[in-house]
Amino acid sequence: MRPASSLNREELARLHGSLREVLLQGIDHRGTTFRDYVDGQGREGGNQDYLKVYGRGGQPCFRCGHALFKIKIAGRTAVFCPECQK
Ligand SMILES: [Zn+2]
Repeated sequence: MRPASSLNREELARLHGSLREVLLQGIDHRGTTFRDYVDGQGREGGNQDYLKVYGRGGQPCFRCGHALFKIKIAGRTAVFCPECQK
């Protein structure tokens, strides 16, 4: 919930690495289809089967078992593990 401008160099590098990893995973699985997304060939994506927290607020974290938190940030829902994502 911190402004991006408050991140230090180490935090920025970690965030950048994670963003690249997640985006590459999404590309590898041809996108994420929740409703109507299809790729240029009309095929649904497959990345929704690999998401770890999206839509899982209150359910156990796959990594540590703690219940996932669901909050609103600037009008958008965010789900995260309070133990793994401090
Ligand atoms: Zn966790």
